[in-house]
Amino acid sequence: MNLKDTIRSIRDYPKPGIIFRDITTLLGNPRAFRQSVDELVQPYAGTGVEKVAGIEARGFILGGAVAHQLSAGFVPIRKKGKLPHETVSIAYSLEYGVDQMEIHRDAVLAGEKVILCDDLIATGGTACAAAQLLRNLGAEVVAACFVIDLPDLGGAAKLRGMDVPVRALVEFE
Ligand code: 5GP
Repeated sequence: MNLKDTIRSIRDYPKPGIIFRDITTLLGNPRAFRQSVDELVQPYAGTGVEKVAGIEARGFILGGAVAHQLSAGFVPIRKKGKLPHETVSIAYSLEYGVDQMEIHRDAVLAGEKVILCDDLIATGGTACAAAQLLRNLGAEVVAACFVIDLPDLGGAAKLRGMDVPVRALVEFE
């Protein structure tokens, strides 16, 4: 099925002029959800991926399913202050100001092969920071995968510039 048709577009959310790509309709569609996870997993089956890191919050849903299908572990990358054990953090730019994301210090081991997963890449600020966070712990970021890429915003190119292979299932202008 055409996954793009299952994604709902919401005008002027979260603010005027923005079209928000809402994947809750994809997630709620049994065939679309399974197909998305199957397509995300397909290139990495049997490649020895040890962990899937999901970015809060929609990256948890997809990343959890991808990790399960790859028989890999799942690692959450969260907004500041949400993880209970010792963390390492990284600052990243938002449209207005900066924020921080965190990972448990012992969540990945040096040399582990990790895939990064989120629902959408736009400017790439979130995903590049997450990839850097994983690298700071010594992980090998073998790929980053997304359901949606907004190529006009340049995020996928930025991530590829960090030598992270990028895969997305659909694109929107
Ligand atoms: P970036 O850092 O690449 O500019 O923004 C990507 C992050 O913002 C992702 O974590 C993604 O979940 C969220 N995001 C930004 N715009 C959208 C959107 O239109 N739809 C969805 N589902 N997430 C978005």
